[in-house]
Amino acid sequence: MKREDVQNILVMGKSGAGKQSRIDVLLEEFGLEQLSTGEIFRYYMRIFNECGFKGDLAQFWDSDLDWFRDVVDIVEMLGENCKGRMKEVLMGLKAKYFVDSGKYVPDRITNSLFKAYFSRSNYRCKVMDGFPRTPGQAKFLMELASRKKFNIDFAILVYNSDESIKERLLGRRICPKCKKVYHLEFEPPTDGRYCIACGSEVIIRSDDTEEKIRSRLNEFTEKTEPAIEYLKNNNLKILSVPGHLDLFTPENVRRSVMEQVEKILD
Ligand SMILES: [Zn+2]
Repeated sequence: MKREDVQNILVMGKSGAGKQSRIDVLLEEFGLEQLSTGEIFRYYMRIFNECGFKGDLAQFWDSDLDWFRDVVDIVEMLGENCKGRMKEVLMGLKAKYFVDSGKYVPDRITNSLFKAYFSRSNYRCKVMDGFPRTPGQAKFLMELASRKKFNIDFAILVYNSDESIKERLLGRRICPKCKKVYHLEFEPPTDGRYCIACGSEVIIRSDDTEEKIRSRLNEFTEKTEPAIEYLKNNNLKILSVPGHLDLFTPENVRRSVMEQVEKILD
């Protein structure tokens, strides 16, 4: 594979494994853009929000069908405001319904949002983050690739033990004002409490509780590991990269990623 032929790369790994610093290396090395599921959901939910609908989203759900009501009904219920970008508004509504209700987002929703967003860049030039996360999403992506004739060139699996992830996340603090990230042990704020940059008192992110960390780790084992198996069985090259480095410098991060990638480049 030639370096300039690389079209798309997947980055997978447990939440908190240290994916972002590896993604940054790939973006720079290959001149790609990041495509994260979180960003896709926010994009469509923003379009829905812009249409100004204020009612309860539960009215769009048909509990007999256990799915959304007919599109024609929904369009009528949304009214005039939402005309124009109806397809995107509907995607935003469906995304928001699941996100707001805290229900598990079904693969068919995630897949359709992903496809719509990815098609805007002609299915090219992305480092994907957070997708695919389940075997259903992995299957969808591989089938989409063969249908739309794009490549997923390889996947990077950032490996980290559950223990080191817990240690990393439980010690993490962020500045609510300037968003700088600290760690009580590895990069402590002033007196363990105050942001070095702006002096605000640092806080624990609401996602960084032991229970939430545990539940995300379980989800990885139950859903994402089988997805990685599926990709492997479909001949996608999976390159393992250590999430933990004894000396965490930008140069070491870059080397740990590129050492693996160079092996499959011409
Ligand atoms: Zn700050």
